[in-house]
Amino acid sequence: MNRYYTLSDYFKEKYGYKILKLSVNGGFTCPNRINGLKGCLFCSDLGSGEFGEDSSLSIREQIVRQKNFLKHKNKANKYIAYFQSFTNTFDKIENLENKYYEALNCDTIIGLAIATRPDCIDDKVIDLLKEINEKYELWVELGFQTSNAKTANLIRRGYDNSVFIDAVGRLNSAGIKVVSHLIFGLPNENVEDWVNSVDFISKMNLWGVKFHSLYIQKNSDLYKYYLENNFKIISKDEYTDMVCRAISLIPKNYVVHRLTGDADKTQLYLPKWSADKLSVIGLIQKKLKIKNIVQGINYNY
Ligand code: SF4
Repeated sequence: MNRYYTLSDYFKEKYGYKILKLSVNGGFTCPNRINGLKGCLFCSDLGSGEFGEDSSLSIREQIVRQKNFLKHKNKANKYIAYFQSFTNTFDKIENLENKYYEALNCDTIIGLAIATRPDCIDDKVIDLLKEINEKYELWVELGFQTSNAKTANLIRRGYDNSVFIDAVGRLNSAGIKVVSHLIFGLPNENVEDWVNSVDFISKMNLWGVKFHSLYIQKNSDLYKYYLENNFKIISKDEYTDMVCRAISLIPKNYVVHRLTGDADKTQLYLPKWSADKLSVIGLIQKKLKIKNIVQGINYNY
């Protein structure tokens, strides 16, 4: 029994076959990391794209490499190009257009996933995405992380919740699907904050959600912050309980893209349990079964 709606469920329903994501690196930067800004507290020097490709290669070359890399592990004939590292709508519109279409013009690429910030979606970007959305699969991922304004400030997210609401509204009006990222375990947050964040995104018209456990990488400012402040690290039990609860609270039609974070193991400091992704996912699935939770069972807005 499927207890939550996965991305492969969505692909199977819509296309009838398996589709995989290929991570590409457009060589963009982030407005939160330039002009003296130090970026989100947890962001690594790779712009939260730990498994991205080498941006000195063309998009086409990156796609070929990623396909070769995946072909022994997973069999698929069609792919989504995932612009993951940094802020993938933060550039001149011509550059964005060139990079997006370079990916879309590659054989077997059926669409794009674009990770960005809600304060980097102007009308030109919306128009370009709208045009792409008419012919290809497309979604935009926004790193919301938390609805708690104090935490958002602490982690240097760099925008208010109202900016997120506004961006989602404009993307919705253009018919573009939106995925939001949430992190459970941010400094000084507790279950109440996590549930509030889930409530917040559940009231919006999103298409999907990605759940992450907070992890500390040594190549992030969060590492220094932890050494100085020693905040409580979320346990595996707390995290898996929370994801089960979140699944029960979100709307049935939200696509659950991710159940846990994916740290670069060579840089991971804490929590060590987060390195074993399969065990975390396995525990969530076990708990969903024991608690008899299915997605949206407690959705009530
Ligand atoms: S928005 Fe993304 S790339 Fe920019 S600082 Fe935050 S996590 Fe890093």
